[in-house]
Amino acid sequence: MTASARLLIVGPQGSGKGTQGVRVSDAFGVPVVSTGDIFRANIKGGTELGAQVSEITARGDLVPDELTSEIVRDRLSEDDAANGFILDGYPRNAVQVGHLDEFLGARGVALDAVILLDVPREESIGRLQLRAHEQGRADDTVEGIAHRLDIYEKETAPILDVYGERGIVDRIDGVGSLDEITERIFAALAARGLAVAA
Ligand code: AMP
Repeated sequence: MTASARLLIVGPQGSGKGTQGVRVSDAFGVPVVSTGDIFRANIKGGTELGAQVSEITARGDLVPDELTSEIVRDRLSEDDAANGFILDGYPRNAVQVGHLDEFLGARGVALDAVILLDVPREESIGRLQLRAHEQGRADDTVEGIAHRLDIYEKETAPILDVYGERGIVDRIDGVGSLDEITERIFAALAARGLAVAA
């Protein structure tokens, strides 16, 4: 069975949102839509989009809003996202929040919840440095990590005020074991009446 759930998972780089997003996606039977993954797949596949974004992502800067939002609109229009989705890494600033509102509003739907994975900056940096060793991501250099965390704090964290005013933000302590954090997320969603599919 698939439960309907339109979710956004937000947190600084290294907060574990990729991992937790997949767990929530599996439990609810809705796809993860990760803009970072879409960009990386296109860079790897040598597509035109990949060529457009490779330098920007390597620098840790944001891909232009229009281009990013167009990709998300296309992805969310696919059949498997009709009942819900979990957005990971989008929206990342106020302009993208506006684009997403427009897209969902035109379909008469809205986000059900925003899961904020709360992780202190030092912890994020430590986890990202570990990932740099393990996965060798081009943007996981010391400067790249600091730059992306700065952008998160300056541009992405403020979107939580917007969603906070709508009463849909669940702040989850992102420090702990993977299973503990997943349980916290499920408990917060259940409190909103968003139960895991049977
Ligand atoms: P992530 O895996 O979410 O950290 O994304 C990796 C990189 O992709 C980011 O550093 C940006 O360059 C780009 N990116 C991902 N999502 C977005 C977005 N919503 N807006 C602009 N750029 C993005």
